[in-house]
Amino acid sequence: MFENLSERLERSFKILKGQGRITEINVAETLKDIRRALLDADVNYKTAKTFTETVKEKALGQNVLTAVKPQQMMVKIVHDELAQLMGGTSTDINLKGNPAVILIAGLQGSGKTTFSGKLANLIKSKRGKHPVLVAGDVYRPAAINQLQVLGEQIGVPVYTEEGNTDPVKIAKAGIKEAKAKGHDVVIIDTAGRLAIDEEMMNEISAIKEAVKPHETLFVVDAMTGQDAVNTAKEFNDRLDFDGVVLTKLDGDTRGGAAISIRSVVDKPIKFVGMGEKMDALDVFHPSRMADRILG
Ligand code: GDP
Repeated sequence: MFENLSERLERSFKILKGQGRITEINVAETLKDIRRALLDADVNYKTAKTFTETVKEKALGQNVLTAVKPQQMMVKIVHDELAQLMGGTSTDINLKGNPAVILIAGLQGSGKTTFSGKLANLIKSKRGKHPVLVAGDVYRPAAINQLQVLGEQIGVPVYTEEGNTDPVKIAKAGIKEAKAKGHDVVIIDTAGRLAIDEEMMNEISAIKEAVKPHETLFVVDAMTGQDAVNTAKEFNDRLDFDGVVLTKLDGDTRGGAAISIRSVVDKPIKFVGMGEKMDALDVFHPSRMADRILG
C-alpha cells in the first residue's frame, strides 16, 4: 500500500508536470488524488482532509495558477506539508540522566538488537558518550550472543547475566553496574515476539515501570505495511513510548509508514535504519522523508 501512495502521488504529479498551464481543475483533481493516496496509506481521515485543505489554501495563496512554474510550486507545497505532517523537524532523544536509560521495544525481527548496537555506536562516536548495552532478550541465547558480537564490533560493553530469565532484574542490575563503572548511557535491548501477545506486553511494561527510562523507543520494520501501523498503536497504548525507529528503509519501501505511524500515534520518528551495518543509522529528517515519498 505504501508503494501505492508514492505511485499515486507520482501519477498525480506527472499529470501536473505534463501541463503547460495548470488549471483549477488540475489542482482540485491532484488534491483529491493526494487525499485518496493518504487514506490508502492509513493516514486517518481528519489528517488527510486537513492536509489537502492546507495544500489548497497555500496553493491559492501563492497564486499557483498564475505562477511561472506552477507545477514546481505545487510540488513544493505538497512536499513541505508532507514534512510538516511528519513533525516538521528532527526530534532528539533524551540523554539527560546519569546514566540516561534508553529502553528498546518492538516485535521480534523488527531490528531491535541491531538498532541497539547502532544507537550505542552513534552515541559513542558522535555524542562523546560512554554507553553500555544490556541484553534483556533472555529467551533467545542467540540474541544475547548477537548483542555481544555487536558490542565487540563497536567497542561497547554488554551487560549479560547467564541463566537469569528475569529481564526486570537484569535491567536494574545493568543500570547499577553502569553507574558503578561510570557509564552515562544504558541501552536496554528487550525480547520481542513474532506477534503482539499479553505476556510480552506485560513484560516490557514491567521493565519500563521498574527502570523508569528517560527514553523509550519503539522499533518497527518499515517494510511491514499496515502491520507496522497496528503494532505501533498497540505498543503506544501500553507503553506510551517517546519515539519511533523505522528500520529497513534501505529496502524498496518508499516510507509511507512514517506518515501513517506519525498520524496514528502522534509520536516523533527519531531514527531510520538504513542497513545491517553498525553505521547504517540516520537521524530522521521529515524533509528528506518527504523527498523520498514523493520519489
Ligand atoms: P530483533 O529480533 O528485533 O532484535 O531484530 P534484529 O536486530 O535481529 O534484526 C532482524 C534482521 O533484520 C537481522 O537480519 C538484521 O540484520 C536485519 N536488520 C535490522 N535493521 C536493518 C536495517 O535497517 N536494514 C536492513 N536491510 N536490515 C536490517
